[in-house]
Formats: sequence, structure tokens, C-alpha cells
Amino acid sequence: MTGRTTRADRLAHPTTRDAVRAVAEAHRACLRPVQLRRINTDTGQIDQILIPCGATLASLCPPCAERAKVLRAAQCAEGWHLDTEPIPGPPPPDEVQAMWVEHRAVAQAMRDQAEAAGEDTGELDELIAELDQEIASSGLRGKADPGTQRPRRHRSTRRRQDAPDLPKRKISPCTIGKTYTAKDGKVFRPSMFLTLTCPSYGRVGEDDTPADPASYDYQRAARDALHFAALFDRFTQNLRRVLGYDVQYFATIEPQQRLAPHVHVAMRGTVSRAELRQIIAATYHQVWWPAADEIRFEGDYLPVWYEARGGYLDPVTGELLPTWDEALDAITDDDQPRHVVRFGAKFDAQGVLAGSKASARCIGYLTKYLTKQLGDCHHPDTDAQREHVERLAEALRFEPCSPTCANWLRYGIQPKNPRPGLVPGACKGKAHRYDHLGYARRRVLVSRKWSGKTLADHRGDRQAWLTEMLGLPATDPAAYRWEQVGPDDDDYMPAGRRLLHAVADRLQWERALTEARRRARDALASEVSATGRAA
Ligand SMILES: [Zn+2]
Ligand SMILES: [Zn+2]
Repeated sequence: MTGRTTRADRLAHPTTRDAVRAVAEAHRACLRPVQLRRINTDTGQIDQILIPCGATLASLCPPCAERAKVLRAAQCAEGWHLDTEPIPGPPPPDEVQAMWVEHRAVAQAMRDQAEAAGEDTGELDELIAELDQEIASSGLRGKADPGTQRPRRHRSTRRRQDAPDLPKRKISPCTIGKTYTAKDGKVFRPSMFLTLTCPSYGRVGEDDTPADPASYDYQRAARDALHFAALFDRFTQNLRRVLGYDVQYFATIEPQQRLAPHVHVAMRGTVSRAELRQIIAATYHQVWWPAADEIRFEGDYLPVWYEARGGYLDPVTGELLPTWDEALDAITDDDQPRHVVRFGAKFDAQGVLAGSKASARCIGYLTKYLTKQLGDCHHPDTDAQREHVERLAEALRFEPCSPTCANWLRYGIQPKNPRPGLVPGACKGKAHRYDHLGYARRRVLVSRKWSGKTLADHRGDRQAWLTEMLGLPATDPAAYRWEQVGPDDDDYMPAGRRLLHAVADRLQWERALTEARRRARDALASEVSATGRAA
């Protein structure tokens, strides 16, 4: 033994840093904990607390991303098979609230009379402000008179969204699906799992790449992805209209292997396949953006920013390009929308019962890819797949992603709210990026009355469970002040030490939880044996 080690020997040993990360991951401790200073406002005692980074992407922090996914699964499960309304309607105003509202009404009438008569309204305005405060502190939300708002420009959306060819029913405020009674008297309240897809853009082979890339409609694929969320919105409106109740959903958007988005939907209640087919066929979203497709500026020949006018002009003629509003105004009733998004005819629908294996499996599908960016869900393995990604990215590169997109300059139109430095093909919008594949909106779309809880409420439920399990006293949030600790502070811990602390915290929790579970088991066992003796 010489005591000498070769480089290869040394490299065969993992680094301690990697080992700490591996141990942290195994114990599901956050890999990028954030350091906070907790100050007890009574005693002045300071504790250093490490809180999880809360990332939803596994590429940033696998344990936090996994926790976020589990939370989404819990949210999905809680709303799917509800048999009571999650948000009961608000109660009528109580006597005190009604009294303040009456005073407020009288004060408004007096003030408006005074104003009409050309008198000073100062005192009455003050009274109204006081009454508004009383109304707010009596527990009513919002204002009695929100005032006149500036008229919003609705031109692009107001423009006809043709009415879909569907029966139009009045929507009842109910959010719970129908029940069915079996022959043996058992009552079922089925829910549904739907998958809606984009249409075909050209034939694809077994690896989901185009059989003929030249004829594959990449432009349509790009535009459909950009507006997919709006299309889903239309779908839920139409679904509610046809079914006649306030249908609730928990939906996630994911890419298919061919890189077009599709949406998985957990829906409360059911819809027949025939109705669903009809709704899908009748659902579309019209994009009323300027129809410009002719490339006017590219390469080195680009519009120039003209500071004095706050806009872009043609470098040759020196003329200011039409502004976004002018371009919208130029759309006439005879024009076609720039794009119409529709679903493909292919869909999947299955009934799901509460507590069934199918329900758990579907929640697995719904949340499967949530810890990944869209572009990371499918890895291109072949050259054909890599080229397919490239062609879609190229189509997305010059497609305007929003009214403010720099790409409008390519077609000779100034984007909305123009600013210097805009270059077509270099828009910073997420939709153009490889990891988004044209879809930059929320990945999880949850209707308002799904579980009647926000994600923070669901998180609170889990914390409350843990606190109760461990028999911890509820902490009074008012007793502490929190401060973030930064690199310039003396008590700042470097990343390596923060991670060690996060692992230590986690180990402590795990031990406490195991101990609490053992105690609960022992208590149950002794109760069972006591009952046995008594009998
Ligand atoms: Zn984390
Ligand atoms: Zn853009």
C-alpha cells in the first residue's frame, strides 16, 4: 500500500455534496431551502427557519415538485365526486348590514341631488366614505358604487364569436351531477374523465412524426397550441349550456407525442357520448387579430423605433406603421378571423365512480406530467423526432403569440404597447420557447366551484393534519415576525449548510411522525384488547 490514489480511484467516490443531495432527496427535503428569520415579538427570540422553495418543476427541485403534484392530486380527488355543493350561496344581509346599506342609499341620493343643484358635495362625500367603511367592516364584500370605469376596448373579442350550433339551455346554479339508481336500490353519482385532442395536421407514422413533413400543417399546429386555452374555455361554456348546470372541472394540459396539446378533464357529473361528440363538433374559438400574413420586414430590413412618436416606422418610406388599434379597426365584417381553433374529432370519455380504482388511475393520468415543462414530457429519440421539434419551433418562432408580440412587426403592424428593442423572431413570450411548444398558459385549469377551496386551503388541510398527528400546539401567527435572510446578512447560511439544516429538520419530522403513529397503533391495540376482555 503506497497511500497514493489515482485520479480514477478518487473519481469513483461520490462527492459529499452529491451524497447530501441524494440523502435530502431520499428524505424528500427541499434541495433549495429558503432561509427566514423568525422573531418572537414578545420575547425577541430569533430562530432560523428553513422553508421549502415550493418549485413545481422537478428540474428545479424534485421533492418540492412531487409535493406540489400530490397537492394537485388531492385537490382533484376532493372535488371530483362531491355530493354536496362546495360553496353554499352567500346568506342574505343581516340587519346591521341592511341598515348600513339603507343609509348609504339615502346619502347617495342626497349627494347626487346636491351636485345637480350645483351645491358643494364635500361633506356628503365624506359621509359616503365613512358609510363605505362601515359597510366593509360589517362583512360585506365589494363596493356599493364602484364608480364609473373607463370603457374598456373590447374590439377584438367583441367582434362576432358566432353562436355555436347547439341547444341553448338556461344554466342552473347547481354544480353536482345527477344520480342514478340501480335495480337493487343502490344510488350512483358517476363522474367523467375526458380527453380532448387537437385535429390532424397531416398523417403521422408510428413514432408520431409526419409521414410527409412538407405537407404537415405546422402553422395550424402552432396557432392551435397558442389558442388552446381559449378553445377549452369555449368548450366548458358550451358543455354547461347543453347540460343545463354549472359543470365543474379539473383539467390539465399536456402534449401528445406528436407535440400537439391535449387536455385531460375530470368533470363532475356525466355527459353522453352523443352529446359530447355534438359539443366538440360545435365548439370553436375565433381569433380576431389582424389577418396579416404577408412578410414585409425580415432579416436586416426591419422597422425602426422612432422615439419622438413612440412607435415603429418603415425604414425606407419613413412612414409610421399602423398601430395595433388601427390594425384592429381595419378588420371589417367581411373579413375572416385570423385563425379558428377547433378540437379534433377524436376524444376519449369514460364514466368514473367515487373511490374506484379507475378514479385513482385517472388522477394519476391527470397529474402525471405536472412536474415537467411541456417540452420535457416527451424526449425525441430519433432524428425524425428531433427534426419534428425543430420544424414546430420554427413555425412558432414567427407566429405572433399575443397582441404585444414583437412578431407583428414582421407583418408591418406595431404590436400593442410598443417599446424600443422589439425584433421579430426574438419575442420573449414563453409560447415561443422549446419548453412550452406554443402553450404558455396555466397547466392546471380548475373551475371556481371544484372543491370550494384554493390550493392554499388544501395545503393548510395537510399541515393541519400533520400538526394534529404530532400533537403540536397551534402557533399564533401574530406572535411572530418573519424576515428573509440574504447573502449580505451576518446570519446568512450558505447553500450547503441550508441543505444540511433542511435534511435535519426533515429527519426530525420523520422520527416524530413514526413515533406518533406507533402511539396511535398502541392505543388502538389496547382499546381492542380491553373491549375483548369486557365481552
Ligand atoms: Zn424545493
Ligand atoms: Zn411573442
